[in-house]
Amino acid sequence: MNEDAIRNLIQSQRDFYERGITREIPFRKSQLKNLFNLIKKYEADILEALYVDLRKPVFEGFMSEIGIIYSELRSAKRKVKSWSRAKLVPGAWLNICAVNKILPEPRGVVLVIGPWNYPFQLLMSPLIGAIAAGNCAILKPSEFSPATSSIVSRIIKDGFDPEYIAVVEGGVEVGQSLVGQKFDHIFYTGGTEIGKKIMKGAAENLTPVTLELGGKSPCIIDESADLDLAAKKIVWGKFWNAGQTCIAPDYLLADSRIKERLVGKITRCIETFWGADPSKTKDYARIINEKHFQRLRNLMNSGKIVIGGKCVESERYISPTVIENTGLDSPIMKEEIFGPLLPVLEFKDIDDCIKKIKLNPKPLALYCFSKDKVFRSRIMREIPFGGGCINDTFLQFTNHKLPFGGVGTSGFGHYHGKFTFDTFSHFKPVVRSLWVNGLWPIYPPYRFFTKLMRKLITWI
Ligand code: NAD
Repeated sequence: MNEDAIRNLIQSQRDFYERGITREIPFRKSQLKNLFNLIKKYEADILEALYVDLRKPVFEGFMSEIGIIYSELRSAKRKVKSWSRAKLVPGAWLNICAVNKILPEPRGVVLVIGPWNYPFQLLMSPLIGAIAAGNCAILKPSEFSPATSSIVSRIIKDGFDPEYIAVVEGGVEVGQSLVGQKFDHIFYTGGTEIGKKIMKGAAENLTPVTLELGGKSPCIIDESADLDLAAKKIVWGKFWNAGQTCIAPDYLLADSRIKERLVGKITRCIETFWGADPSKTKDYARIINEKHFQRLRNLMNSGKIVIGGKCVESERYISPTVIENTGLDSPIMKEEIFGPLLPVLEFKDIDDCIKKIKLNPKPLALYCFSKDKVFRSRIMREIPFGGGCINDTFLQFTNHKLPFGGVGTSGFGHYHGKFTFDTFSHFKPVVRSLWVNGLWPIYPPYRFFTKLMRKLITWI
């Protein structure tokens, strides 16, 4: 789509938005239902597309891309009326005789840009909030997951008028053209470097942005941890979608006293999950493209491979791989891994652990396996991170009652459930005064009221 077509599309959405239809609650509800039915209708095609793009196992595809969206849709449909209601708040003393309200208002026409690793879910989840909040929306899928991009486009064309919801497919130039236009909000999920460009582009029009970015998410294993449980949760969280998950444990920081035992348990767990050769099972995904495959292959040289290390270029297969003897300044510790490579580093004590994590910018996720309350609470209090789990991985993402988002270079703004509705709304404060003449001492001439008011306001 060229720049003129994009401009016309945005204008048609603006015109549609101004007609006020999207503000009606029955309309929003019906569109959430419509989206649910469309996804149900195309469920098999979506799973097929995810398999084509990433060889995503059907179980993983359903659980992390479709199932999660069904439950968000059901909840949004149930709650949209109460979320959209004006909220009464008590007055401050100057407007005590007034009705003080907060009115949630749609932002208008919004843009959602998605990445390739969860190419369906990461477009649909923001879209649910955009619809619930009464906006028009344009979706821009990632060009690196073309099969999913195409099915998303088909689904939206089948069920929505483009002046309400539309998909614009394409690569970086299309993304740049979109970001250069005037939107009322841009919701971007992807890498940190591109995130900076999105923010720069949006600044031209003073468009507010939500940036869902990445980073190096640590996973800490204390001496007191249940190592069987930790190994299982870590292997599951790290190698789901072949490690191409923004909140996957990026690297392990294990207490030096239990490190060897932990690595042994991780080895056994990998074998239990996928057998001796994971390439033979249907339950393990592939790397998205050649560029990432080569990038990951190079990162394998950052230490001693103790498990895995097998690559099949023709399939873009990289086996679950554990790497030891990795220095903090080695290439694998300098960038987000975003693949099935798991470096295992060690720490002497909690101060050493915190110091090592703080060498990197604030992560999107943090996981801590420990039975020691004091240890856990120091980790939770002293390290800033987007969100995380104690004695588990991933689960902070699966509850839409929890806000999801990064901090610092891992992003800002948050979403899921009501938080997505809030992201796509402006909360408009409105005060309706009930006094006919108002509070007369506040009007000139002020005379002795200056003294009186200074006293009153200081002490009330
Ligand atoms: P990416 O940054 O390469 O691309 C994401 C999207 O941005 C694509 O649709 C792409 O076409 C578009 N884009 C690229 N350049 C653009 C530009 N200059 N202007 C406008 N649009 C542009 O990201 P990716 O490689 O697709 O995703 C991987 C990254 O995303 C990882 O760092 C990962 O941690 C992060 N991620 C974060 C979350 C989260 O929820 N925080 C979720 C998934 C992925």
